[in-house]
Amino acid sequence: MSSYWRKVDSKCVVCRSAVGKIVIKSGKIVVEEYFDNWGCWKKVPQQSEMQVLCRVCQKQTGKQQRKHRQNNLAQE
Ligand SMILES: [Zn+2]
Repeated sequence: MSSYWRKVDSKCVVCRSAVGKIVIKSGKIVVEEYFDNWGCWKKVPQQSEMQVLCRVCQKQTGKQQRKHRQNNLAQE
């Protein structure tokens, strides 16, 4: 797959908070500004599309995954 991006979202995929100013120029993702609540990139599988997570939702996602693993361990 080429690195020609078709779409990028500058709002958190979970809560829709704006996390920065992100644009596509000639197929490349250009970040003009990261906001304070910037979290991480979240690539859309099999698509030339990029989504983002804010800091809060990134932490919550990580917590849920850790919790899930701990529950699994407790049941064993
Ligand atoms: Zn969010």
